[in-house]
Amino acid sequence: MIKKGYYGHWGGAFIPEILYETFRELNTFFEDVKKDQAFWNEYVQLMSTYSCRPTPLTYAENLSNRFGGARIYIKREDLNHTGAHKANNVMGQGLLVKRMGKKRVIAETGAGQHGVATATMAAKFGFDCTIYMGEEDVQRQRPNVFWMEKMGATVIPVTDGSRTLKDAINEAFRDWVSNMDSTHYVLGTVCGPHPFPEMVAWFQSIIGIEAREQILKAFGKLPARVYACVGGGSNALGIFQGFMQDDQVALVGVEAGGKGLASGEHAARLAGSDASPGVAQGYKTMFLQNSDGQMLDTHSVAAGLDYIGVSPILTDLWEKGRVRFAAATDSEVMDALELTMKKEGIIPALESAHGFVQAFKEVQNLGKDEAIIINMSGRGDKDIFTIANAYGDPSWKEFIIARAEQYKK
Ligand SMILES: *Cc1c(COP(=O)(O)O)cnc(C)c1O
Repeated sequence: MIKKGYYGHWGGAFIPEILYETFRELNTFFEDVKKDQAFWNEYVQLMSTYSCRPTPLTYAENLSNRFGGARIYIKREDLNHTGAHKANNVMGQGLLVKRMGKKRVIAETGAGQHGVATATMAAKFGFDCTIYMGEEDVQRQRPNVFWMEKMGATVIPVTDGSRTLKDAINEAFRDWVSNMDSTHYVLGTVCGPHPFPEMVAWFQSIIGIEAREQILKAFGKLPARVYACVGGGSNALGIFQGFMQDDQVALVGVEAGGKGLASGEHAARLAGSDASPGVAQGYKTMFLQNSDGQMLDTHSVAAGLDYIGVSPILTDLWEKGRVRFAAATDSEVMDALELTMKKEGIIPALESAHGFVQAFKEVQNLGKDEAIIINMSGRGDKDIFTIANAYGDPSWKEFIIARAEQYKK
């Protein structure tokens, strides 16, 4: 029945029979709001008062001088409420849920960022909220669990399988099947069954709409290239959409190269050669899987990029040659992060720093009369444990031990 939602031969909606009605309803509401300028205006208004839209476009003058090529501009999605572009998606879906008249939202979360954003939205709209999180991740991401619970969400640790993100997704689908009438599943990125890829991309397109206007105002012409990190692909598609019709603007997606593409410990789907076509989690794309279709273990220093699949919309754009893909390794990411902090006083999230790596590699090849934009999907504050650990900062370690000692007393 549901034929829409294909991008080339990628995408689709591979859902259990029992969810057909729920998806039909969701599709109907989404098709309605997509045509409704008043809905979009309400969304923009909400994001300008509750989040920080329009987010600024910052000219990174010191970095530009350091490399001596094109001017580097940074789109500041870190300045959103909850510190990343995720707010654009969850607040948009929140407005949609209100329109559907549902009162309960559920979500899956890996590192916890999407869980925090969803719990925030639920508190603001007065929805009941349940977050599914692998037990392993609950242990690793205590600060995010703390905030979700404080905002009134119920966090359910999932003890199945590897007790991480993919098990949390399965559990969230199980919940949805039993509570379809009252509940909306707030999917976190441009993946999963139709209409989620299109819907999430639509809400995130606000990034590109703003960025295009801002660069024309600041620089007087379009950028030569736009860089963004790619986990599921929502921040990348968000900014890319602003330049999709401008053939002279190269669009570059940067995936997690982890310990290197040859190591097998990475999450490079389109930049590497380890992924193959498959259907999982309700959609068709390039997955990191073995020849039996078992999903592989991925690795990245950035939890938000550590995912087996990638948006079917991006896979199509990759196949058509409109979006180019590269990978950044964990150690390259730490170097780019350090340089950006020292030169600009800006702390990118580990995820976002992947985009910076590739931009820094290429910017020297472009002339001073050109510009590039890096989409900074989020702020790095959340990564303090990982970053401090990676730098082996001894005084940070002392601080953590002293804190732990205090709690023992
Ligand atoms: C979640 C997250 C990502 C990855 O998600 P996409 O859907 O690929 O954008 C990237 N950056 C940050 C800061 C995130 O929190």
